[in-house]
Amino acid sequence: MSINRRQFLRRAGIVTALGLGGSFVINAAGSKLAEAAAESTYGTSTQGLAAKHWAMVVDMSKFKSKDDFKRVSQACDLIHNVPDIGNTKDEIKWIWEDDYEHTFSGGENEYLTESFKELPFVVMCNHCENPPCVKACPTGATFKRPDGIVDMDYHRCIGCRFCMGACPFSARSFNFRNPRPFIKENNPDYPTRTQGVVEKCIFCVERLAKGQKPACVEVSKGGLIFGDLDDPNSEVRKIISSKFTIRRKAELGTQPSVYYLVGGGEHA
Ligand code: SF4
Ligand code: SF4
Repeated sequence: MSINRRQFLRRAGIVTALGLGGSFVINAAGSKLAEAAAESTYGTSTQGLAAKHWAMVVDMSKFKSKDDFKRVSQACDLIHNVPDIGNTKDEIKWIWEDDYEHTFSGGENEYLTESFKELPFVVMCNHCENPPCVKACPTGATFKRPDGIVDMDYHRCIGCRFCMGACPFSARSFNFRNPRPFIKENNPDYPTRTQGVVEKCIFCVERLAKGQKPACVEVSKGGLIFGDLDDPNSEVRKIISSKFTIRRKAELGTQPSVYYLVGGGEHA
């Protein structure tokens, strides 16, 4: 993301006034690469994947067992060096399971059955079209890419947590402590973070750049469908334009790019 000089000086002024500081170091040391995406059905390429508007569909019919949830969160955690700190207060979450009330609170849908409301849901950053986290961040550490992905530049994060206060989905985590000792299996191809930095799902931008789909999508057995919402021929577009999908807290106007397919079956 580029910011002009005026924006930079204004943001720098806020940072100085707050007296905040943060850091980020690339951890080159590591053990063997996680094989989380081993079940890939997509070919890899040296060409990056491009879209006008990346979006995700969560097909609820494919998330039935604990394993269905665990598979996607483990793939993400392994590839991105997400630590397992072991307590909810310090927890770092990129993609996780939550209940109906937390996922869709405020957006009651009278047509949904009671049994649907008892289901767990897979949740992550929604890569909102109008992301309040981006507006709140004083340094540009959180920014929206032209393809719709809300990305993070950890180098710029000063740990003020304004973005966390602004996100109505609790989709961001703060490293209250050094995450490195809590990483189960270090992936040397992805940077670790430091204490005092905010992080979240980034739709695997580092994999898209290499021509690969997000890690969670690859292991989801069709439960997560990823594609270009602007492309009328993409699977996500076909599902969203022809099936009943819902988005989290749509009433807030953030316009999530993650859609939940309700009713299931063969999605496209
Ligand atoms: S879900 Fe939260 S963190 Fe993600 S883009 Fe929307 S406001 Fe930002
Ligand atoms: S904590 Fe959030 S708002 Fe503050 S600099 Fe980091 S990304 Fe931006």
